[in-house]
Amino acid sequence: MSKHQTPRDSMQGTVTRDIAELRRHEGEGARFVGTAMRVILAADRARRRIEQLKQRAMMLRQLERSLFGHRMPLATTLIAEAGWRRDSVDAYCPRCGSSRAPFEDLLEGCGDCRGRRLGYAGLVRLGRFAPPLSQWVPAIKHRAWQGMGVALGRELADQVAAAAEAGVIRPPELVVAVPTHWTRSLTRGIDHVHVLSEALAKRLGVPLVPALSARLALHQTGASKLARLGNKGRYRLTGAGQSIRGRNVLLVDDVRTTGSTLRQAGKALAAAEPLSVTAAVCAAVDSPRRNAIASQVAQWQSRGSGHADETQNVDKF
Ligand SMILES: [Zn+2]
Repeated sequence: MSKHQTPRDSMQGTVTRDIAELRRHEGEGARFVGTAMRVILAADRARRRIEQLKQRAMMLRQLERSLFGHRMPLATTLIAEAGWRRDSVDAYCPRCGSSRAPFEDLLEGCGDCRGRRLGYAGLVRLGRFAPPLSQWVPAIKHRAWQGMGVALGRELADQVAAAAEAGVIRPPELVVAVPTHWTRSLTRGIDHVHVLSEALAKRLGVPLVPALSARLALHQTGASKLARLGNKGRYRLTGAGQSIRGRNVLLVDDVRTTGSTLRQAGKALAAAEPLSVTAAVCAAVDSPRRNAIASQVAQWQSRGSGHADETQNVDKF
């Protein structure tokens, strides 16, 4: 072994020092790479977890759709958010339920019903058949929207109570629903008037009496006015119907269109000699003439203080 360092030895020493130096840094590097890898893996796990959660949420939505057909919003929330209010008692004819025209005298009924026999003593409505009622009420029937049926049934109960308190109608002692033929309820998946009436009767604290049954009749939607009027004897008094004798009856339907359905149901009830029959509906359809008046009134209101226009247009009515 030589005691003298050769250039080769010197070079070897340098390499050894360099390797030792590298090894020191290698430790640091390895620790850095380890931390980086852990961060990357954690991020990857989080990303995969998010994907899994998204997939599960999508599966749940699909499941809900397949179970219920469609997703309906909560009726009470929708009603509150729409800022909708029930009509005031003097906004419509207390006899037939048509919207009151400006300055119209309703003592003997409105221009549409005065002198006509209706089959019921008076009518309580939530509003005119116009948005949002014209969207909500048919959805109870055609989309089997039970929640909206219950919500509007309760609103109608409050409206009936307000009308009775104002002395416009006799306080009802029992509720009768305009019946739907069972084949129709079965295909629709809901007996919409029954849902309305049940919620209404419960809120008023009076019994719901199955006083009427329906004969299978022509479908109302799309049927002409003449066809509806000719569709007589659609309702029959049931055995339970005898219990309405001498009582104040509230007859419930979803919409009053021509009034033919309520007239026929009222006529069938009359056979049991009730003390009075008052109709209650969610919405009443106005005649085309009344709709024209309503759109004129809306125009005046949107103009604000249009007094000059008001005196010009009032002659048209
Ligand atoms: Zn009227």
